[in-house]
Amino acid sequence: MEKLIEKKLLKAEQTFQEWKKVPFEEKQKLIAKAAEIFKSKAENFGKIITDEMHKPISQSISEVEKSALMMNYYAEAENVLKPEKIQSEYSISEIHFVPKGVILGVMPWNFPFWQVLRFATPAILAGNTVVLKHASICFGSGNAIEKVFIEAGFPEGLFQNLEIGHKEVEEVLEHSIIKGVSLTGSGKAGAEVAATAGKNIKKSLLELGGSDAFIVLDDADLGEAAKVGALARLQNCGQTCVAAKRFIVQKNIEFDFLPKFILEYKKYIPADPHLKESKLSGMARPDLADDLEKQYQKALDNGAEVIIPLERISENEFNPGLIRVAEGNPILLDELFGPLGMVMIAEDDKEALKIANDIPFGLSNSVWTSDKDRQHFFIENLESGTVNINRMTSSDPRFPFGGTKSSGYGTELSLHALKEFVTIKTVLGK
Ligand code: NDP
Repeated sequence: MEKLIEKKLLKAEQTFQEWKKVPFEEKQKLIAKAAEIFKSKAENFGKIITDEMHKPISQSISEVEKSALMMNYYAEAENVLKPEKIQSEYSISEIHFVPKGVILGVMPWNFPFWQVLRFATPAILAGNTVVLKHASICFGSGNAIEKVFIEAGFPEGLFQNLEIGHKEVEEVLEHSIIKGVSLTGSGKAGAEVAATAGKNIKKSLLELGGSDAFIVLDDADLGEAAKVGALARLQNCGQTCVAAKRFIVQKNIEFDFLPKFILEYKKYIPADPHLKESKLSGMARPDLADDLEKQYQKALDNGAEVIIPLERISENEFNPGLIRVAEGNPILLDELFGPLGMVMIAEDDKEALKIANDIPFGLSNSVWTSDKDRQHFFIENLESGTVNINRMTSSDPRFPFGGTKSSGYGTELSLHALKEFVTIKTVLGK
């Protein structure tokens, strides 16, 4: 292992030995301070994001502001890690929550500040220290985040950006100092990292891809569903794990809903990401655009019909596409991580549910209906970590976030995330 990386791991471990003793409330004060810095410099940090992965600047700034909001949530959160006293026949009868140590974050480029801070904040508040392997195109974001932790007054070594490529992750994760790993990214990266963690008996948390359904039923507000649906697919140029990727429309409203949806969809035109008014920009990397084009072709080769053609207009920009896909098309096993949506038609609620669940993923589905019984049916039966009714998915720090099936395991956000990287220790005595 490179000497500098080894040195950083040792530093992270030394810092952990002190950090774990700092009272919860003191840790919260530092998190509040970091949140203040992120908020006050949101424009500067937003520019780093846009420069690195081309997100429209207004969305980059919102991402940093939302990260600050999330940190403030933890800065004011109830201490659920206090030792719990349990009534029993023992005179000492307690449950303690013990931080694990140095946790590795393997993070993606699609939300370069949010994903990192969403993982790191509860891990740090629980008493761990963090080393980051950021996406190779986002080292500037990683370094900027590290600087904020220092500026806020956190000890040196609490949060360190490693600047390593993905080939070096295995060696770092195998190092005895690393006690757990949190990865957000593709299923392939997740499976490899989880295999290494498993071999070394280390805790892992995986937040992977999705192919979420956006189900529009015949009693929905179709105008609102069309507008929100286009945003849910095309925000961040479609590069969002919880983006709406499959629009499952009830057959009897197909000709009411689709024209409205197409109208809203066509409002997204690629533009310079540095302009405040831009709603859509290019994808993060040209190879990701190549992959999306191949997936488009694969869908068409297997019988998908074009509703709006996907048109590549530069090495990483597209005019967004929309295709009509029938069950059995192998494209349904893929995640479409870019500006390409799929429309599927369902006769009734039962069929809509079947189509929605019939994929490898299970992240966050959205259902549009005003009927309480129909809402209840989908809430009970959709196989996903989140169900939204008459709203698109957008994570909220107060609520748990995570997937099922091939979308991963473990919980981010909310008070539950504080217990992901702790050992739950039973203490009994006479
Ligand atoms: P990756 O999953 O390859 O990248 C995410 C992170 O994992 C990066 O830091 C990357 O490092 C790292 N990584 C990649 N392979 C390994 C590995 N074998 N071991 C350890 N770490 C690894 O995503 P891509 O950028 O290649 O995007 C491909 C697809 O992944 C997308 O099209 C999308 O479907 C999905 N994805 C999902 C995301 C989500 O939010 N759930 C986010 C990003 C991608 P490095 O940059 O150095 O390769």
